[in-house]
Amino acid sequence: MTDDSLDHSDFSTLGFNTRAIRTGHQRTAEGEHGEPIFPTSSYVFDSAAQAAARFAGEEPGNIYSRFTNPTVRNFEQRLASLEAGERAVATSSGMAAILATFMGLLKAGDHVVSSRSIFGTSVILFNNYLGKFGVETTFVPLTDLSAWEKAIRPETKVLFLETPSNPLAEVADITALAELAHARGCLLVVDNCFCTPALQQPLKLGADIIVHSATKYLDGQGRCIGGAVVGSEDIVGKDVYGFLRTCGPTMSPFNAWVFLKGLETLKLRMEAHSKSALTLAQWLEGRTAVKKVHYTGLESHPQHALACKQQSAHGGVLSFEVNGSKEDAWKVIDATRFLSITANLGDAKTTITHPATTTHGRLTPEERAAAGISDGLIRVAVGLEEVEDVIADLERGLA
Ligand SMILES: *Cc1c(COP(=O)(O)O)cnc(C)c1O
Repeated sequence: MTDDSLDHSDFSTLGFNTRAIRTGHQRTAEGEHGEPIFPTSSYVFDSAAQAAARFAGEEPGNIYSRFTNPTVRNFEQRLASLEAGERAVATSSGMAAILATFMGLLKAGDHVVSSRSIFGTSVILFNNYLGKFGVETTFVPLTDLSAWEKAIRPETKVLFLETPSNPLAEVADITALAELAHARGCLLVVDNCFCTPALQQPLKLGADIIVHSATKYLDGQGRCIGGAVVGSEDIVGKDVYGFLRTCGPTMSPFNAWVFLKGLETLKLRMEAHSKSALTLAQWLEGRTAVKKVHYTGLESHPQHALACKQQSAHGGVLSFEVNGSKEDAWKVIDATRFLSITANLGDAKTTITHPATTTHGRLTPEERAAAGISDGLIRVAVGLEEVEDVIADLERGLA
């Protein structure tokens, strides 16, 4: 074989890992084996006539890296293939992916129904910024289908969710919500950051658009900020891409290259994260100092069956409640020796955080209680260290 450029839409015949490693590389005349980085802001034309044809859209090809870049395209085609989508566009961050989706699809007067259990900054984006431009958002409990149904209005255009949710691991029934969305003339947008396409492919379950923070598991080693939107050629290739090329929160070729290499090991990593998280969750469930463990891989999880139906494994993030107060939770966190006290996740390094005083610290005590974030709650994003060592690090504080 002389060319790595597998057709990115070829997701029916080749396996996930094959596509994760082979899709999208258009080998240059240098014959390079590794994917090249193209750090160029613009592109040169053979003639004035060719420049005119490119600008007029009569001839395909690169013009300027805010529009297209070969390294970024390589990442986009690979991710589109893994999510079984027609088209992916890369963005400068996960938040830029969500912003580009909504700016591309909505206008003043439109309405969004969103799960209330989403990334905190997404809530701020919806309330403070989309709201400023006349797009209103109603928040509903993720697992309450009738609440979603009741919240939909004639002007509702989009339903938005993350599943499993962070940090309590509630699961949305993607198929049921996609059916509801389509029956009411809406699109279903899923933030697939926690499972990634290695464990869950929402487009196959009926969702219309996937958004990603590539910063997390697609990178996998905590290096770069980035994001992506995946869906149909019509919606993502026109509406979302149109916003990106005009307004500019596009991905740099260097970051695209890091994510491209991240995708090659995505499934191996997600399986390893999931295996360790399950081992840790089962160990935590047997500890007297632990009141409750939230992880979809546990049979005690109220939606374990649904999670098993739509996910091939359960991911690296779990949370648990210690018997006691904020001080008791902080003691467990501070007793660890190598776990990283940081709110990030999706890294080879295990991270530990206290949601009530960090990610959810800006909520009032009442809002926190309604969201189920108790003072004793601790979130762990299990990395790729030996799980026995992670357990030993947590045991010190729990003993
Ligand atoms: C981190 C995160 C985002 C935002 O991504 P950035 O790359 O930090 O902009 C969005 N959604 C989820 C679920 C996240 O975890």
